[in-house]
Amino acid sequence: MFPENRFLADPALGKLAKWLRILGMDARYIRSGSIDRALADCEPGRILLTRSRRIAKQERDRKIIFIRSNAPIRQLEEVIDAARIRRGDVRPFSRCIRCNVLISQVAKASVKYRVPDWVWEQHHHFHKCNRCGRIYWAGTHIDRSLLQIDALFGTNGGLQFPG
Ligand SMILES: [Zn+2]
Repeated sequence: MFPENRFLADPALGKLAKWLRILGMDARYIRSGSIDRALADCEPGRILLTRSRRIAKQERDRKIIFIRSNAPIRQLEEVIDAARIRRGDVRPFSRCIRCNVLISQVAKASVKYRVPDWVWEQHHHFHKCNRCGRIYWAGTHIDRSLLQIDALFGTNGGLQFPG
């Protein structure tokens, strides 16, 4: 893996950025319309993920992964390959998908009225984003994502929701 596995995705790669966040990677995303400014404001250590040859040319001093695939899951494979990310490097579901910040475990009692009743009754571990307040728990969508992550790294099982 690169010494710094922090990423900056161009506006065409929003879904890829989301997938990197699901893996627990720090992935910022440039909203369309402000590309040059976002690049200028971004710390140089962040690896640029782009589909644009113009942007790739312009950012000579930055480490770049040029993305070729159209499908987000294939794009994710390209990043894993190029950045030499291994299974042990990823911390699935440790980051807010919306805000890109780390989430932290919160007491079950504190989310009683913030999640649906059936969720509160069936789950014991909850995490919260301190920026947007979103509550996370291990639901079936997470089981499906874990299967996809396992498939990406060619392994079976072993990944669990934190906590
Ligand atoms: Zn958040």
